Amino acid sequence: MTTPFYGIYGAGGCGRGILPIAREMLMVQGVPPKRLVFIDDAPAAGSMNGHAVMTFDEFCKHPASTRHAALAIANSKVREKLSLVLTERGVGPLSVVATNAIIMDDVRIGDGALLSPFVTLTSNIKIGRCFHANLYSYVEHDCVIGDYVTFAPSVKCNGNVVIEDHVYIGAGAVIKQGQPGRPLVVGQGAIVGMGAVVTKSVAPGVTVAGNPAKPMPGA
Ligand code: UDP
Repeated sequence: MTTPFYGIYGAGGCGRGILPIAREMLMVQGVPPKRLVFIDDAPAAGSMNGHAVMTFDEFCKHPASTRHAALAIANSKVREKLSLVLTERGVGPLSVVATNAIIMDDVRIGDGALLSPFVTLTSNIKIGRCFHANLYSYVEHDCVIGDYVTFAPSVKCNGNVVIEDHVYIGAGAVIKQGQPGRPLVVGQGAIVGMGAVVTKSVAPGVTVAGNPAKPMPGA
C-alpha cells in the first residue's frame, strides 16, 4: 500500500528554510520524514539536509497514493508557472505553516502559502495563492493581498493596505497603514526595497526604496 508523498519544490535558500517547517507540520499529522523530499529541476546533489532531492518527473513517478508540493521559490513568476505544472500533473498544493505562526480571525488565505516562524496575520485579511511570508513578517487588519506575493523577513504591512499580484517586498520594509475605503495600494509587480518606508501608494511595476520610499530611477 502506498501513502501520500510530499515535496518542497526548490532546494535553494527558500526551500531549505521551509522544509524543516513542513517536516514538523507533517510529523504532527503522522507523516514520516522520508515521505518528504526536495524537488528541483537542477538538483545539485542526490540528498540535502537528510532528504532526497529529485526532479519533478521523478517525484511524479515515485509510488504514492497522492502527491502534494509546496512552491518554495522566491521568484513569483516561477511560482505561477510551476503552479500550473503541478495542476497539470495532478500534484496538489501544499501550504506550510510554522507552528508558532499566529493567524487571528477571518483570515482567508489561498492555496500554497508558506508562513515562516514568527509570522503574524491579524484579523479580517484576504490573501491569494502561493503567498510567502518570511520570518517575523506581519500583516495587519483589513489588508488584501493578491496572488504570488513575496514578503522577505520582517516585512511590516500595516492595516488597510492592498498588495497586488506578484509584488516583492524586501527585508525590513514598513508599509504605512491606509484608511478604511482608501487603502494604500502597492500595484501589481512592484518591488519594495529592503528597509523602505512606504508612506503612499506605489504604481504597478515600479521599484521603490528609501525613507520615505521613492521610485528608483532606471529600475
Ligand atoms: N528551480 C527549479 N525550477 C525552476 C526554477 C528554479 O527547480 O523552474 C530551483 C533552482 O534549481 C534552485 C531553486 O529553485 O535550486 C531556487 O533557489 P535559489 O537559492 O536560487 O532561490 P530561492 O531559494 O531564494 O528562491
